[in-house]
Amino acid sequence: EFCARVGLAVGTYFGGGEVLVGRDGRLSGQMVANAVISGLLAAGCTVYDVGLAPTPTIQFAVKHFGMDGGVIITASHNPPEYNGIKVLRPDGVELSRKQELEVEEIYFESKFKPASWSSMGSTRPLRGAVEAYVEAVESHVDVDLIRRSRFKVVLDPANGVGVIPALRLLRDLGCRVVLINGEIDGGFPGRHPEPKPENLGGLSTMVKASGADIGVAYDGDADRSIFVDERGEVHWGDKSFAIVARWFLAREPGATIVTPVSSSSLVKEVVEAHGGKLVWTQVGSVVVSHKMMEIGSRLGGEENGGIFYGPHQPVRDGPMSTALLLQIMAEEKRPLSALMDELPRYYLMKTSVECPHELKPLVLEELRARFRDLRPLTIDGVRVWYEDGSSVLMRPSGTEPIFRIYAEARDEARIMEVLEEHRSMVEEIVAKVARGR
Ligand code: MG
Repeated sequence: EFCARVGLAVGTYFGGGEVLVGRDGRLSGQMVANAVISGLLAAGCTVYDVGLAPTPTIQFAVKHFGMDGGVIITASHNPPEYNGIKVLRPDGVELSRKQELEVEEIYFESKFKPASWSSMGSTRPLRGAVEAYVEAVESHVDVDLIRRSRFKVVLDPANGVGVIPALRLLRDLGCRVVLINGEIDGGFPGRHPEPKPENLGGLSTMVKASGADIGVAYDGDADRSIFVDERGEVHWGDKSFAIVARWFLAREPGATIVTPVSSSSLVKEVVEAHGGKLVWTQVGSVVVSHKMMEIGSRLGGEENGGIFYGPHQPVRDGPMSTALLLQIMAEEKRPLSALMDELPRYYLMKTSVECPHELKPLVLEELRARFRDLRPLTIDGVRVWYEDGSSVLMRPSGTEPIFRIYAEARDEARIMEVLEEHRSMVEEIVAKVARGR
């Protein structure tokens, strides 16, 4: 009932029209999709159902087929029991928070506009979405060059829907593919759908055992991608993004690149060293997409493996990122480990300090004041850089009663010092603010 009402709210927001719907492979997907589609039909929408497809494929299809909007039923990287409803604008980009609030207002204040009995919508199948998407991805790389490299690729889509376009793409690119966790199964029996290093042991082992050039892991809906080099080492998204950024800046000198404040200084250092301009945003992929469109930037990236390649679409896209990495490896004619090893090295550590939700704004205010002389970034939490290259982000969690502290430094000895110093400072401020109330 809830999903059908959300569908009706979304259909009311779109004012009818043609809406594309697709879903990931979760066990609740069919049920949720059918309910949402009912709501959309009740609002008079014509629904084009693409069925199973990854998020970036659905986003591309909304724009490619000239839809008035789209809905994706997916819970991305979350555990199997979750599901979610994402709403897309006609350009395939997710609604901004402000636009989401408009949908919520329709829902919570029952401002639904159901269609009359004689103008209910209907569903139609949509064919060709995957083909059109793969063709578009291929148009951004040199297919012949990649084919000549005859890469061996281990693909781990986490039993998610990423396998649908990725297998086709990799075969078109002449890759020899070893597939693990390749059956679509909403129980995610192979591994957790979040592509974190601790979940990618199987991929790492298979890369080494099969003598592959690269391992590719996606999250459950394949908008995030994490890469493993030929030695079996898993590299976090900051590093693959830095490699793509460097390649991009050689093609588009002086370009502006967008990244959230949680990204490593590695990204800042590489972008600045190659003549690019870095624009920081709040944490969140939708914020990055919207910032890119607002300022005309054509590349964005997140530390979790989201790469936004604007010439294709300004959203995270696992298969597109995969094609870019293969393009770079083919051009460089060097193993992925060599490209990773030459990046500036940073050590990263995280911790957290307990802080009740109601104290968070006061703690933030005090932190801003204390670091004023260092001219911190204050878009989302407080981030400061020191002269030795170390940096710290102190940011209140959006969901838990804690302040997160991320520290980074160029050497292992310094990192503990930096983390400890800021952890105790935040603790002291939380205690002080609590006493002052
Ligand atoms: Mg995702």
